[in-house]
Amino acid sequence: MGHISVVGAGLAGCEAAWAAANAGAHVTLIEMKPHKYTAAHHSPGFAELVCSNSFKAKRPDSAAGLLKQELKLMGSVCMQAALSCEVAAGGALAVDRELFSKTVTQLIKSHKHIKIEHREITDIGNVQGDAIIIATGPLTSEPLANSLKKLLGKSLSFYDAAAPIVAADSVDSELSFCASRYGKNKDGDYVNCPMDKQQYEAFYQALITAETVPLHEFEVEDGLPQFYEGCMPIEALAKRGKDAIRFGPMKPVGLTDPRTGHRPWAVLQLRRENAEGTMLNLVGFQTNLKFGEQKRVFRMIPALHKAEFLRYGVMHRNTFIDSPRLLNSSFALKNNPRIFFAGQITGVEGYMESASSGIIAGINAVRAARQKEPFILPRQTMMGALAAYISDDSVKDFQPMGANFGIIPPLEQQVRDKKERHAMLSHRAINILKQKLVQL
Ligand SMILES: Cc1cc2nc3c(=O)[nH]c(=O)nc-3n(C[C@H](O)[C@H](O)[C@H](O)COP(=O)(O)OP(=O)(O)OC[C@H]3O[C@@H](n4cnc5c(N)ncnc54)[C@H](O)[C@@H]3O)c2cc1C
Repeated sequence: MGHISVVGAGLAGCEAAWAAANAGAHVTLIEMKPHKYTAAHHSPGFAELVCSNSFKAKRPDSAAGLLKQELKLMGSVCMQAALSCEVAAGGALAVDRELFSKTVTQLIKSHKHIKIEHREITDIGNVQGDAIIIATGPLTSEPLANSLKKLLGKSLSFYDAAAPIVAADSVDSELSFCASRYGKNKDGDYVNCPMDKQQYEAFYQALITAETVPLHEFEVEDGLPQFYEGCMPIEALAKRGKDAIRFGPMKPVGLTDPRTGHRPWAVLQLRRENAEGTMLNLVGFQTNLKFGEQKRVFRMIPALHKAEFLRYGVMHRNTFIDSPRLLNSSFALKNNPRIFFAGQITGVEGYMESASSGIIAGINAVRAARQKEPFILPRQTMMGALAAYISDDSVKDFQPMGANFGIIPPLEQQVRDKKERHAMLSHRAINILKQKLVQL
């Protein structure tokens, strides 16, 4: 049968416990609430939604909608609960948060293979089980975070400072050029988005006056954000002076625009985010601007005028591990197949993404305990693509990632219409997942 211990009863931990128990394992789910709360958790129930009560779009041809369909097929306890306490929210799946947490808690507590313990784990070495799953979330308690740091070395971050990512095929190739500074690499590793003086000045004004996201109390000390050292948001750097970013991340040195034969006034460089080059990162553009503002302001850069944002930049407290170096796509440690991680701590971003990683970790923890081969979902599925992304060693500067179509391998045929393309990607994902589930 196997004994699995899961630490943390958030969305990921509940899914992991549910999946492992449904596979016939005996599960101990360990949660520190109500004895101790993180700065963002306030109620004693499981699967507490710490901020928004929305699980994003339901449309099957959206990335979030596809993930939800897949979760349903995988028997997700969070989806089951969400559908039973849905509130009207247009095209989104939003829930009554208290009822949601209450429903998940009841389902978990009434499962005959799940035992609950309310205590804080301060040392990973004290967790018993044939396999263990750490799902303590973005605000993992400090003693456990210290213990993880010892186990994993330096591979633990305490905040996100992520730059936006755009779809490579949405960057205007007429208004950008491929090159490395000083022609260091003939093929040019970067996509460069040049600006002339007038364009830069308009962009600069928009950037310094754009609206930012208010910080949470626990992210601020003496009125200042705690996490900005070494990862200054682009808008904060810009506020230091008109040329600060032109001498920083937007410096044009070593670059010649082939259309003009001159050095541009300023340049935004885009770097490949994945091996296929379908996703591009805005280099040095970590930002705390509101999402709508990021779209408005960054689209003022000529080559990005119709950019599709696959992930917006974020800056907030977030404990996560350097998964590409540490985890397999089964969510097990590469150097210890009995220790699994799940949820936001692995670098998946969002409620449903965390739930999805919990299911995969739960299934695979049981398989590890039974010495069976891991169950790996194909990359054409959203759940498989997220698992592949967080364990992809070619991703160097790892930052958390939510569901989006950029992480899924493209269709064999080219489909120009975005809506149609996404519908086809979703259709393919669901068919592949159904075939794969027969093997489980
Ligand atoms: C302030 C804030 C706002 C957010 N807003 C959103 C949002 O609007 N939408 C969105 O999709 N995502 C949001 N997120 C991300 C969100 O946290 C995740 O999407 C999701 O909650 C992660 O699920 P999880 O199971 O990994 O972690 P959590 O849901 O945080 O669950 C972790 C659980 O582990 C417990 N725990 C921690 N340490 C220990 C320990 N040492 N021993 C035992 N138990 C422990 C905690 O009490 C908690 O119950 C936000 C995150 C933060 C910090």
